[in-house]
Amino acid sequence: QDVVELVESHVREVEDFPAPGVLFRDITPLIADPVAFASLIEILADRYRGKVDAVAGLESRGFILGAPLAVALGVGMVTVRKAGRLPGPVVGIDYDLEYGSARMELQPFTVKDGDRVLVIDDVLATGGTADAAFQLIEAAGGVADTLCVLLELVDLGGRGRLHDRTVDSVLTY
Ligand code: 5GP
Repeated sequence: QDVVELVESHVREVEDFPAPGVLFRDITPLIADPVAFASLIEILADRYRGKVDAVAGLESRGFILGAPLAVALGVGMVTVRKAGRLPGPVVGIDYDLEYGSARMELQPFTVKDGDRVLVIDDVLATGGTADAAFQLIEAAGGVADTLCVLLELVDLGGRGRLHDRTVDSVLTY
C-alpha cells in the first residue's frame, strides 16, 4: 500500500477539538492498527536508513512515531519535551503559539557532537514546536535539518517558519 493512502485512510477528523472552531486531525487510528503502524515505520525506516544518527521525537505523539523508527534505524531516541518534564541539566527555549507561549526542553547530553538528528512529529501546524526543537538540538551540538511529519497543515505556514530546513510530510491539508 502506498504511504499516502496508508496515512490518509487512518486519520480521523475531529471538529471543535481541543477548542471550538478547530479541526483536529487524529492519528490514533493509525497507531492502533498493527499492520498500518508497522508498514508506516518500515517505509520511514527505508527513507532515512544510513542518513541519520538519532531520532528526536516531539512530545508526545512524536515519541510514539520516533521510538520504533529509531529502533528500526539502529539509532538512539532523543526526547524533546514540554517544560518541567525532564530532569536537568536541560536546555530550553520559549516560543510563541497562536495564543500564548510554550517552552520545550532537551537534555543536551542525549545529543552527541555532530550527530545528524531527524526530528519527527505527527503534525506540522505553525512550526513553532519544530523550530524550537531544531534550535535545541543545534544548541546541544547536533545537526538538525530535517523534519518528518505525517500531516502538514499548509495554511498555518509552518514550512515558512522553518526557513531552510527540509520538511518531509506524508500528507498535506
Ligand atoms: P505547531 O507548533 O506546529 O503549531 O504545532 C504542532 C504541535 O501541535 C504538534 O506537536 C502537533 O502534535 C500538535 N497539533 C497541532 N494541530 C494538530 C492536529 O490537528 N492534530 C494533531 N494530532 N496534532 C496537532
